[in-house]
Formats: sequence, structure tokens, C-alpha cells
Amino acid sequence: MLLLIPGPVATRPEVRAAMAQDVAPWDNDFRAIYARLRERVLAVAHGVPGEHATLPLQGCGHFITEAAIRTFIPPGGKLLIPGSGAYADRMTRLAREAGRVPVVMPIDPDRPTDPAAVGAALAADPSIGHVGVIYSETGSGVIHDAPAIGAVVRQAGRRMIVDAVSAFGALPLDMSAQPEIDAALFTSNKCLEGLPGMGFAVARVDRLQASVGQAGSWSFDLESIYTHALKAGWGSFRFTPPAQVLMAFDKALDFYEAEGGQPARLARYVANMRAFYDGIRGLGLSPYLPREQQGPIIVNVHAPADPAWDLQRFVDALKARGVLISNFYNTATPTFRVGCIGAVTPDDMRRAVGAMAEALNELGITRREAA
Ligand SMILES: *Cc1c(COP(=O)(O)O)cnc(C)c1O
Repeated sequence: MLLLIPGPVATRPEVRAAMAQDVAPWDNDFRAIYARLRERVLAVAHGVPGEHATLPLQGCGHFITEAAIRTFIPPGGKLLIPGSGAYADRMTRLAREAGRVPVVMPIDPDRPTDPAAVGAALAADPSIGHVGVIYSETGSGVIHDAPAIGAVVRQAGRRMIVDAVSAFGALPLDMSAQPEIDAALFTSNKCLEGLPGMGFAVARVDRLQASVGQAGSWSFDLESIYTHALKAGWGSFRFTPPAQVLMAFDKALDFYEAEGGQPARLARYVANMRAFYDGIRGLGLSPYLPREQQGPIIVNVHAPADPAWDLQRFVDALKARGVLISNFYNTATPTFRVGCIGAVTPDDMRRAVGAMAEALNELGITRREAA
């Protein structure tokens, strides 16, 4: 099955095979792999050893995002969030439910955030301590320029938390050049092409040291993960980890490095996106974003106007042809969404377009312009 969703992504068979063993998390062989894995991840973020730390947390992206919000923002503290779409909405809810105060900055969800507008919002409210940015808004497919927004945040003397969950490993991120970033967040199962089950933060050590006791949660406390590592070693976990997922992740990092790291991964995803974007236009379908706003991670496509259109039937017809896409909408207007990330190539994307042509014909969809 060709899995074209923005996480969990298609993985290589070697990565899945790395899971097929029993592992004791406290075993010295595993501890060495885990400690090295933290260093490998730090290098992807261009973190500085001693200045930054890799803090893994069992679970999904929402868990690591909540942990970062709790750890770095004091209770009652304000977090400015550009309202980029579905994942900005999720960060807003996570902050509110954790007793922090999200301040949503309305933006056009089909366009990148204007860094100057972030600067103006910060100038207007000196009580805002943090900015929360979705680097790649998986809801829309738009990339928000985290380095440029960070420069404005830095100039304003504020702090930033970057949800890089669907960006990390593919879009450039240089933590050494962005001291305003408290933490960048991501998971094992997106652009690094591992299996789902682990969240990661790369975070600043000085900010961790300034955050003792602030989280109001033991499970979701990055500072606790950090101090545990100092006491018990970088190969040690507080609580039982999905050790097999980490074995697979280690293998996925081998492929990442062999491919050529971030620039090579981005180039492949851009080629995937272009093959798909051009392909569906050739079928008469309308992409949700104009080409100049279209990021390389996910392509949304307007639901066709034809009255016979039915998303679940389309998804089922594709699945019968070996291609699996999401069966829900993540945009205000109905769209179907296709991930361009994972262990897939432009040829796979062209195969998916071929399957879509057949599925549209099977469903009798002739009016294919946007509904
Ligand atoms: C996938 C994703 C998340 C996390 O989703 P989970 O289902 O919790 O793993 C968060 N932010 C963005 C931008 C994402 O794409």
C-alpha cells in the first residue's frame, strides 16, 4: 500500500524490520544507541552540545507540544499564535487547557505569516512572552518562515516555540543561529521517516534551567526529562519508552544521513509535490493553494464540483488501487489532502495520479473544478 498521508508516513522495509526484536530499555546496548540518537537529532537541528539538549517524550506530536508549552511558558503567561490553520488551532487549545493564555493573531490561512505583523503584535502587547509558530501548517500546506519570524521575535526580546512536526528534517532549521527558540518540536513519524510513537524537543539548556517546577505536570515536563538525563545518563528514560520505535528511528536516521540530510530530503519532497501538483492539474482538479504558496509537505485539492463526489468513496476507490489518502477535510472549504513526505518518490506520486484518474472515472466525476 502506498501511504500518502502527512504522518504516519510510508517507511522503508529496513526501518520496519529494525523493530522486529525484543529490547530492554535499560540494557547497555540500547542505552548507547539511544544516547547517540539524541546527538544525531541535535545535529539535524544544528543544536550546540551543552547549549541545546534533545528531549524525547513517549507519544505523539500533541504531547511534545503540550510539554513545551507547559515547560517554557509560566501559568497565565501569554503565547502569540499566528492563526495559520488546523495545527495553530490545536496549539491554541493545548495552551488554553494548560492554563496558559493563547493570543491568536488572525492571518490569511492561505498565505505565509508576515513577520512584520508578528513584530507589530508584540510591540502592541509587551505582556506577550512567547510566540508559537507552526513551521509547516499541515492543515493548509503553507510554509511559515520560522527563521524570519524568529528574527523579529529575537529583536523584540521575546521567546519562540516552533511546532516543526511536519517540517523537521526537511525544512532548514539552525538552532545555533536562532537563540530565541526555546524549543523546536517534532516526531519520529514524519519527515525523518520513522515509525510513530516518539515526540522530540530540541531545547535550550539555559531556558530549561530557568523553568524548574513550572510545568504543573510530571509527564509533560521537559525540564524533568533534562534533569533525569543529567542524573541517570543520556541513555536513560524516566518511564518505559517504545524501545522498538527508537530502534527503527535509529535506522531511519541512517537512511536520512545516507540520502544527504536535510537538503536532499527537501529536494525529494519538492520533486514529489511538483509531480503530484502538475499531475492532478492534468486531471482537471484544482489544487487548494496557488503554486507560489504551495509547500513541499502536503497538497490539498479542492473537492470537485460534480454532485457524484463523495470523499470516502474516492478514498475507497484509491485504496482498491493500492493508494491510501486521508478521508477527512482539514480546511474551511472541502478538500482532499495528500502527503508528499515519507519513503516515496516522484514516480510513486505519478502512480497515485494515475490511480486518481481511474478512481474519478469509476465514480463518474466529470465536473472536476472546485465545488
Ligand atoms: C502531525 C502534526 C502534529 C502532531 O500530530 P500528532 O497526531 O499529535 O502526532 C503537530 N503539528 C503539526 C504541524 C503536524 O503536522
